Amino acid sequence: MPLPFKLVYSDDYYLPIGAHVFPAQKYRLIHKRLLESGIAARPDFITPKPAQDEDILRVHTREYVQKLKMGTLSVQEEMQMEVPYSPELVKAFWLAAGGSILAAEWALREGAACNVGGGFHHAFPDHGEGFCVIHDVAVAIKRMHQDGKLTRAMTVDCDVHDGNGTAAIFPPQGKTRIGQPLPSAGASQRDIHAAQEAPHKNGSDPLEVFTISLHQAHNYPAYKPPSSIDVNLPDGTNDDEYLGWLDQSLSSALRHFEPELLCYIAGADPYKEDQLGGLALTIEGLKKRDELVLKVARARNIPVMITYAGGYARRVEDTVTIHCNTILAAKEIFARTSEVQ
Ligand SMILES: [Zn+2]
Repeated sequence: MPLPFKLVYSDDYYLPIGAHVFPAQKYRLIHKRLLESGIAARPDFITPKPAQDEDILRVHTREYVQKLKMGTLSVQEEMQMEVPYSPELVKAFWLAAGGSILAAEWALREGAACNVGGGFHHAFPDHGEGFCVIHDVAVAIKRMHQDGKLTRAMTVDCDVHDGNGTAAIFPPQGKTRIGQPLPSAGASQRDIHAAQEAPHKNGSDPLEVFTISLHQAHNYPAYKPPSSIDVNLPDGTNDDEYLGWLDQSLSSALRHFEPELLCYIAGADPYKEDQLGGLALTIEGLKKRDELVLKVARARNIPVMITYAGGYARRVEDTVTIHCNTILAAKEIFARTSEVQ
């Protein structure tokens, strides 16, 4: 049985960054594991092309793109990126962005698709940071808007780190932004802000993007620009607490906003064994997280595009397992085509 959705992948997703806490080999390992475990077969994969410069320029400034292409970043800018610059690195990020464009197209066509890469949510319009050079998800959303395929998108960012680039690119807009805590027991230590977008207006059809970020409060980045919904989780948040917050965030968001595409940024780093994270989710809990996001989307017939973002488990095998489980969860949920939701 083929997967009920496409997996977008290239061996060239590998990032040429040498010995690094970011396991650049994870993409190839995930691809291998998906095939060996029987979760996916070769025909499930489609190969992306690099994004075009005009796609990148809808999100990033001309000056920044020029610096990347010419190799003229300052030392400071390269340090902020936290990955060593090379022309090959730039190529890999253009390809990841092309992969997210392709995944968005297939998600809109078939209900779901996964870019076995991407999720570079710390990239800003005018600079890269936190291992992220190009914001592939934003590039994909803006391209889909450009192509007339959507006007309302939602990002659901479950990486342990705040989606600061996403929030900077798509700042919450509209008069309905509310800065009050969402109702929840035990919310005292948690700072949750919700903003709601104005209902979609007919006429000029501007792009509206509702952004959700669940992240560890005491972690990178120091400055967290506001998302539509931010959930600042305390250190050591466990499976049940996390799932409760996620459920509540999704319910609240979808009460206010009906997206035509949900971009799920499925970071593997809320895992308790992560080297750059301080939450306490288990591998099982992370799969439940995936199931929750995907079930909500499936039940409402919202197409879902999945990207991977970070994952720095002490054992790279665990990061691979967590990322493969996201595909497994999607396979289980989207295979039930005849089921009444
Ligand atoms: Zn992360």
